[in-house]
Amino acid sequence: MTSDQPQWVLATDIDNTLTGDEPALRELRQELDVMRRAGELFLILSTGRRLEDVLSGFEREGLPEPDAIIAQVGTEIYLPPFSSGIAPLAAWKERLQRDFSRGRALGFLDGIEGVEMQLPEFNTALKVSVFLDKAPDPHTAAERVVRRIEEADASGEHRVLWSSGRDLDIIPEAAGKGNAIRYLLEYLDLNPDRLIVAGDSGNDLSMFEAFPCGIVVANAQPELHILREAADSEHFFASAKCAGGVVEGLRHFGLLA
Ligand SMILES: [Mg+2]
Repeated sequence: MTSDQPQWVLATDIDNTLTGDEPALRELRQELDVMRRAGELFLILSTGRRLEDVLSGFEREGLPEPDAIIAQVGTEIYLPPFSSGIAPLAAWKERLQRDFSRGRALGFLDGIEGVEMQLPEFNTALKVSVFLDKAPDPHTAAERVVRRIEEADASGEHRVLWSSGRDLDIIPEAAGKGNAIRYLLEYLDLNPDRLIVAGDSGNDLSMFEAFPCGIVVANAQPELHILREAADSEHFFASAKCAGGVVEGLRHFGLLA
């Protein structure tokens, strides 16, 4: 680490990780703002939201101001100054476009009962997003999509994210929150002493798999239960929900006193 680099990086999900407990989020935001102003922390918001819904959350939901935004589950990266309509990092976008066809990804959903498309703004050139909660058995339907991709020998290009028993995304294999964070660190030449991730659902799994120090909030979805068996990790399972759990985890890892 060079002296002008932040000592810590925190990459955190937003929904049900930061949001869900307003007083706790206010406390967390104050702590993070102080550390960022002191140059000790590089904060990444890593989310399934699109950029605009992150920006509106600064005022409306009291989200902390970040140093980078990873949006649309790791298919878009944004750097400051943030404003509505700014372009995502072109190099990341080009890298993901190389091996991904939206048309082909859509084909893996053909004929699966109960599939419902999410709003057009969540269906980009690099992401197919559907709801599966109306399927007779959502979990089995999600497994079927994964199997189809394997059978088509297309796992090298497609990654399936299954979150909250409801949301299914098909994105480029090279994308996802974990890969996007790695790319961003390399792109900015950041070498923190410690990187901490925080999340609550299946689309956060790639962060927990990529980095050993994670905070799993107490309200986490069942998809994250498998992390308890990951022997080589130091993941922390908070007893508090949402931002309260993140604060607890940051104390555990020594980022907060
Ligand atoms: Mg979440």
